[in-house]
Amino acid sequence: MVDLFSQYQKIKPQINSAIQDVLDTTDFIKGKQVVEFENNLTKFTGSKYAITCANGTDALQIALMALDLEIGDEVIVPGFTYAATAEVIALLRLIPVMVDVDPKTFNISISELKRAITKKTKAIVPVHLFGQCSDMEPIMKIAQEHKLWIIEDNAQSFGAEYMFSDGTTKQTGTIGHIGSTSFFPTKNLGCFGDGGALFTNDDILAEKIRMIANHGQKIKYHHSIIGCNSRLDTIQAAVLNVKLEHLNEHLNARKKAADFYDNALANWQFGQIPQQINNINHTYNQYTLIIKNGRRDELKSFLAGKGIPSMIYYPIPLYKQDAFNKYVPQGFELPNTEQLCRSVLSVPIHTEMNEDILLKITDTLKSFK
Ligand SMILES: *Cc1c(COP(=O)(O)O)cnc(C)c1O
Repeated sequence: MVDLFSQYQKIKPQINSAIQDVLDTTDFIKGKQVVEFENNLTKFTGSKYAITCANGTDALQIALMALDLEIGDEVIVPGFTYAATAEVIALLRLIPVMVDVDPKTFNISISELKRAITKKTKAIVPVHLFGQCSDMEPIMKIAQEHKLWIIEDNAQSFGAEYMFSDGTTKQTGTIGHIGSTSFFPTKNLGCFGDGGALFTNDDILAEKIRMIANHGQKIKYHHSIIGCNSRLDTIQAAVLNVKLEHLNEHLNARKKAADFYDNALANWQFGQIPQQINNINHTYNQYTLIIKNGRRDELKSFLAGKGIPSMIYYPIPLYKQDAFNKYVPQGFELPNTEQLCRSVLSVPIHTEMNEDILLKITDTLKSFK
């Protein structure tokens, strides 16, 4: 599904020397590369603050902790997402309220979102799934009307952009009150282990986020709030400084591979290609097809038989997971989420795809009868 090896080979001297620099100083925690990386992140994203942490799940948790919510407050999430999004909500004894997604973009449905708001709703966590931004303009409007916090789960779409109706463009993760992202190796910007970051333009939130990620202290050994220990290692920051320089090139490579798939599969009878939205540039962290006629699983086995990997993101809706079904009434179903869990199939996409590989995959797909 991914080819991190070939990607590494191309930037090996730069990466190795960046890691060697860390080894030579032995500043493994809070080394200067971490500060450099945070500065590079603010430059790249246009966010006022970027605060690194240990992983994308922690980033979501720290974001929620910074909002001073109370036990039992409701937080709206899409039902079609990775478990981490709802997990941290439940972990903080908040209530994850799962709503349906748009069947075209796989992102949270604006009309369903509106319907889910109650007096107890305090926040919304739109997830920018598979590389594509949620429809943030109406989401921010709803947030303003109902005085709700917006935390963007940008783990899968780092580097994507959203254009507002007035023509201004912002990067994903910098539109809501807080944005969170992950540097897990297979994400758009991936390190060589775990990593994450939070983004905000709010001075007070930024200070609080930094304190929470650091045991609730601003001055050493003075703990003013309950926090946690969530840091990005210096070695990972050193790797990320190098990889951020190549991010645009890597995003272009993903886009090129997606264009090839789009052209080859535009009229394919068994599958529908991902939808492009005018004001949103898709970064294709995944290239996800909708397979028709209930033949998804059959196609997946067919591909496997020809040596082509494919993945189902996600096979089971959140509310049908044992960990989450207590948050919904018995028999609860979100129709679009149900349909997507039955029909989506992601095919390989990464920064090192070439025409030979792409042709083999698309020819094989088209030979399915
Ligand atoms: C990967 C991912 C996360 C979590 O990131 P980790 O760094 O693995 O903790 C959260 N949300 C979504 C949508 C993700 O894809």
